[in-house]
Amino acid sequence: MVRSLIVSGTSIDIIPKKGCHSLKLRIDRKTGKPQVIIPFLYPIFMVQKFIESHIVWLQKQISLTPQKITFKDGMKLSILGQELIIRHQDKRIGGVFIEGNILIVTGSSEHLHRRVKDFIQKQVSEYVSVKAPKIAEQLNCSIKRITIKDTISRWGSCTSTGHLSFCWRLGLAPLFVLDYVIIHEVAHLVEMNHSWAFWKKVAELNANTRQAKKWLNENAPYLHSFL
Ligand SMILES: [Zn+2]
Repeated sequence: MVRSLIVSGTSIDIIPKKGCHSLKLRIDRKTGKPQVIIPFLYPIFMVQKFIESHIVWLQKQISLTPQKITFKDGMKLSILGQELIIRHQDKRIGGVFIEGNILIVTGSSEHLHRRVKDFIQKQVSEYVSVKAPKIAEQLNCSIKRITIKDTISRWGSCTSTGHLSFCWRLGLAPLFVLDYVIIHEVAHLVEMNHSWAFWKKVAELNANTRQAKKWLNENAPYLHSFL
């Protein structure tokens, strides 16, 4: 359980961290919540004083941070390029499924956001698990493992050991954008850099590189707005 302090009406989570030597105030990029990182066993009254002296700055940062949103009944969204409307139907069973252009979410409303998020993550996982090996085959290389994560700084990654990972939020992007990220990461299995040879490979695989990068640049705040 995370402890928190309330200073001038603002709730700040206290996060003790090993190896931390000074206090650090920040907005958590995943949750959008303010937090203070402190050394272990640091006196709380000192933390309170520190926050008080920085509260104006912190409240300004909060006002500049886009609010995190959750999936809700009636919300329109596109999953793997399919336009859908979320409908919460608590009387039905079966988890989350698509009927026509409706994304039915069963169960209690407090779990709706998590269930939709899990559904998108699964959809991305299934899509990537089919698409990535096909591209790898064209490049004569193989993938060891694919994971879908919630990353903030990157849309995908590739290790020299053949482990690829992708951000679940790409499931909310048009399909050509997800395809581009898959091609980009699989191409790294052959060219572990961003050299001319790498981009040539990506182009050969018909990635819409320019349009996809443009879309990601313009829509990153939207993709990251979801909790
Ligand atoms: Zn890259």
